[in-house]
Amino acid sequence: MKYVLLLLLALLIVWQWRTHRSAKDREPPVDAPHKPIDMLACSHCGIHIAAHEARQGASGVYCSAAHQRLHEA
Ligand SMILES: [Zn+2]
Repeated sequence: MKYVLLLLLALLIVWQWRTHRSAKDREPPVDAPHKPIDMLACSHCGIHIAAHEARQGASGVYCSAAHQRLHEA
């Protein structure tokens, strides 16, 4: 009888954990970006990158240090 109660307790804990976890998974993340981000074209290769990831150079923006070096050399 003791093992049946322990098994029921374990099942209850697992069920509670799964219910709580799946409820959290359904909620959207609080810090999800909802606004569009500004994109800039690399002055060397033309690929579009997020403005906050772009490298500002003397004659434009670049996607990487290598492209900045190649374009400004
Ligand atoms: Zn580039």
